[in-house]
Amino acid sequence: MESLERFARSKLDDLAAQSLKRTLAETDRYGPTEARRDGRDVISFCCNDYLNLSHHPQVIDAAVEATRRFGVGSGASRLVTGNHPLFADLEARLARYKEAEDAVVFGSGYLTNIGIIPSLIRPDDLIVADEYCHACLFAGSQISHAKLLIFRHNDLAHCAELLARHRQDHPHCLILTDGVFSMDGDLAPVTELVDLAEAHDAWLMTDDAHGLGVIAGGKGSSFVTGKKARVPLQMGTLSKAVGVYGGYLCASKPVIDLIKTRARSFIYTTGLPPGSVAACIAALELIENHPELVAKPMQKARRFTRALNLPDPESCIVPLILGDPDIALAASQDLIEQGFLVTAIRPPTVPPGTARLRFTFTAEHRDTDIDRLVEAVRPHMPRPQDGAA
Ligand SMILES: *Cc1c(COP(=O)(O)O)cnc(C)c1O
Repeated sequence: MESLERFARSKLDDLAAQSLKRTLAETDRYGPTEARRDGRDVISFCCNDYLNLSHHPQVIDAAVEATRRFGVGSGASRLVTGNHPLFADLEARLARYKEAEDAVVFGSGYLTNIGIIPSLIRPDDLIVADEYCHACLFAGSQISHAKLLIFRHNDLAHCAELLARHRQDHPHCLILTDGVFSMDGDLAPVTELVDLAEAHDAWLMTDDAHGLGVIAGGKGSSFVTGKKARVPLQMGTLSKAVGVYGGYLCASKPVIDLIKTRARSFIYTTGLPPGSVAACIAALELIENHPELVAKPMQKARRFTRALNLPDPESCIVPLILGDPDIALAASQDLIEQGFLVTAIRPPTVPPGTARLRFTFTAEHRDTDIDRLVEAVRPHMPRPQDGAA
């Protein structure tokens, strides 16, 4: 036992020395954008609840009603007795909205990715992934034991080069990208990746955790041209703009049927609670029927970037890269003291030397709060900006 504690303590000391130790801070999110931390009221600019649906009365009512009707937990894996009637409704709705034949819902986005990839890809296959893909795409890739090649971020030529060199040595090939990159907020060149994938008989999978409910009128990164790009594997989460919890894959019927019978993180885990599924259905209904709501997070993000002379945002995630973890932590601390919750993102979540503040903008942020945030951030800008005092 002593060696175990010694091991844990020395690991923690190492991380603390590099300002890389993580700690949980209790955060009471008592309103759509309001939170209390350490007894201080703050406006959160770091939730992924882009439409504030986690606090929407209709979404909450749906969760409460379903909980009363079906109970708080689903009781078992969906393949045993956990497949309550709400799943069929949610999956049909997702498939229709994403213009796919079918959909499957998992317990979370992370579980979705670690389930899908090894179900489709075997050890002798190839995976080609953008270097900034979310951690759970890499986790799923590792579980598959396939050969994994990384292309430089959004670099189509590099991706093409890897495919040209290695594709023919493997029976199947999966291309992985985030639709919206979670720490940089930029979009993947989805249409071009579709062409590249098709030219090499590779399967393209996009992780649209930050696209659903925000990008292309809410339909996500496969729809930026106004028409659905031929992405055969559209994955996403129900934990961000949808405001609840869960993950999904939209794809053709045979692919979805295969995933339901093969994905270990679908089979060997309990189904989502009925209240969560009902809340997702209510939230998707709001997303589909309220384009004015869906448009808001981008308007708020633009107000912020324009005031600071930053490039126009591609999503409602805006990074401010500060470099050193200590600098990012100090900036985050200063903002908290001024009433704004903005987390510092450090390696290994982002590459070394690119620690940053990651701002997220949501529908219900007040313009006056954004303007106050701008003034609080100005002194932390990495170099003098035009128009700055
Ligand atoms: C948050 C996130 C996930 C994980 O989704 P959860 O539902 O939170 O497990 C997966 N991919 C990306 C790109 C994400 O940002």
